[in-house]
Amino acid sequence: MAGDDALPEIRPLSGSVRLRRALQELPRDGAEQRAIEAGEIDAVIDYRGANVIMFPMARRALRAAASRASAARRKAALETPLANAVLAALPRDEYLHLLPALEFVTLEFGTVLHEAGAPIPYVYFPLDCVVCLLTTTDPERMVETGMVGYEGIVGVSLGLGVDVASVRAVVQTAGSAMRMSAARFGRDFRRSPCLQHELYRCASAKLAQARQTAACIASHHFEQRLACWLLMASDRSRSEDLFLTHEYLATILNVRRVSVTMACTSLRSRELITYVRGTIRILDRAGLEAVSCACYRSVGFPRAVA
Ligand SMILES: [Zn+2]
Repeated sequence: MAGDDALPEIRPLSGSVRLRRALQELPRDGAEQRAIEAGEIDAVIDYRGANVIMFPMARRALRAAASRASAARRKAALETPLANAVLAALPRDEYLHLLPALEFVTLEFGTVLHEAGAPIPYVYFPLDCVVCLLTTTDPERMVETGMVGYEGIVGVSLGLGVDVASVRAVVQTAGSAMRMSAARFGRDFRRSPCLQHELYRCASAKLAQARQTAACIASHHFEQRLACWLLMASDRSRSEDLFLTHEYLATILNVRRVSVTMACTSLRSRELITYVRGTIRILDRAGLEAVSCACYRSVGFPRAVA
């Protein structure tokens, strides 16, 4: 914003006592005064109040930039609801009703969306991020009991009348999502049969997935489980590359690290996957499906976005 033509006219433009006072306190012919007159700076520091005071022109420029960014996000949101299956399933007018309350967010790996035993602040509709749901087995250990990607919602229990989370929700694959405050979601949920239908479908899918996970752990060999898990994660992130360490997999799948390494080595020797530090790449999806237990076809495969 340096160089705005109105900046040298700061005194008549200011209209702010604090700004006028801060300007009056600047040393005459000092470096700051010269920079203001040259239009090179947009704000001054009010040392008495420990505040930065922006010139009116700079404030207007910032507001205009924020408004443009907001409009761009809104336009992107209007064009991208189909990236999440739940939003895509809503009638257009219902989606447009929700839109002002939806916030587009980017989520980093490891971000905790809600904590087990704590209130759920937001409902998330993943677009291309993947969120794992972790259940505590003892104070030091958490095991994955669910995985949510673009096919579902994080915060399903809000629609079931429970506003405290039973699991920790953590971002496993960085990406983007739309989110809505729990309070607003509750209001819209009550008035929208379509949203209710979608949430109940997601809740049912999560319950089936949790049951299948329990049966899978009890019944299937770890290599089969790992193949299933890699396919599920790949489907939800829409990528053949998974940014995961063996250590991370061992933690969330509740096995020793050496078990992960042995299973990965076995899958790699058959050229189904490859891996370098921190990244597993699926090379042969059909081959991996053949190795996976039947759990993948039972509950692991996400529905397509319409
Ligand atoms: Zn299984």
